[in-house]
Amino acid sequence: MIVLEPREHFFSTLIGLELQKELLKKMWESAQLPHTLLFAGPPLVGKRSLAFALSKYINCDTARAKTTTCTCRSCTLISRGIHPDIFVVEPTGATQTIQIDQLREVQEIANIAPIEARRKIIIFMNAEQMNPSAANSALKLLEEPPSYLLLILVSPQPHRLLPTVKSRCTQITLTPSTEEEIERWLIENLDISDVTARLASAFSAGIPGMALELARRNYIGRRDLLLRELDYLLNSGFPALFSVADELAKRFNKKEITELLLGWFRDILVSQYYPESPELLINKDAVNDIERLAQHYSPHALFKAIKELLATHTLTQRIINKRLLPLVLFLRLGKSLKTT
Ligand SMILES: [Zn+2]
Repeated sequence: MIVLEPREHFFSTLIGLELQKELLKKMWESAQLPHTLLFAGPPLVGKRSLAFALSKYINCDTARAKTTTCTCRSCTLISRGIHPDIFVVEPTGATQTIQIDQLREVQEIANIAPIEARRKIIIFMNAEQMNPSAANSALKLLEEPPSYLLLILVSPQPHRLLPTVKSRCTQITLTPSTEEEIERWLIENLDISDVTARLASAFSAGIPGMALELARRNYIGRRDLLLRELDYLLNSGFPALFSVADELAKRFNKKEITELLLGWFRDILVSQYYPESPELLINKDAVNDIERLAQHYSPHALFKAIKELLATHTLTQRIINKRLLPLVLFLRLGKSLKTT
């Protein structure tokens, strides 16, 4: 499995937090979910992930998100950060504060009923960073939110919120998991070695996000993430190119993209020429996928793809714009792989 971004999470993919999840489920199912929630807890404990998982739980088209992962329209849009009814407010600028202009926009958004969701949801990240005028403006909304609206304040330092703001919210405190829980979770969900899992959990202080930071340097997880984006692009065509490039620019450094892909396409080519020698592969854990792709692509397409990768690899030092590299690379790669 791959390392998930907060917005890609479901209740079922979140480690620990059983009590918090149960409570939220019960409140929603019994129509008692408050319109204003505060998710508090140490950094990287899963507050953002829980906010997005709850958004899916509430708005899933099929109800699958209540028990497992889901790829319905609503869940997919939330996962990709483009759902028309789910908004995220982040601190901005040099001072890293949430400012009054942002709250004006929030007010406008809040006044319009959701387009397709059961609940329109506005998530305030690092809500303690609201400056006083923004906080006062937020207070008005928190006092009388429209019935279709759910406001989620996310904060690692809830004591820094205005008391009037805090008292308007139902606080849910997220607590760290045990080291053993984290270790087991890493091994079961991330396909990483026992040794890496042990190391990552030992240094995580029970904080899943911290364990992930350590474990995500893991090669397999990074590779699968990259391949998933490539798959998405090949299936969705040109319109997906920009969102894929953005995603990659955010998550990878430039060299890493070409290195991981070179290893991958090299293996597919090796598998075409030496199908009886899987021991020659770098990506030994993915023999089946590689063999399948070796059947799928023509040798000509693979040579072209590798040539493009090598050419881009030498460019990584010179292309300054982080987003440009994956854009150019994937455009060329997509074309090459379509060669017969
Ligand atoms: Zn769904």
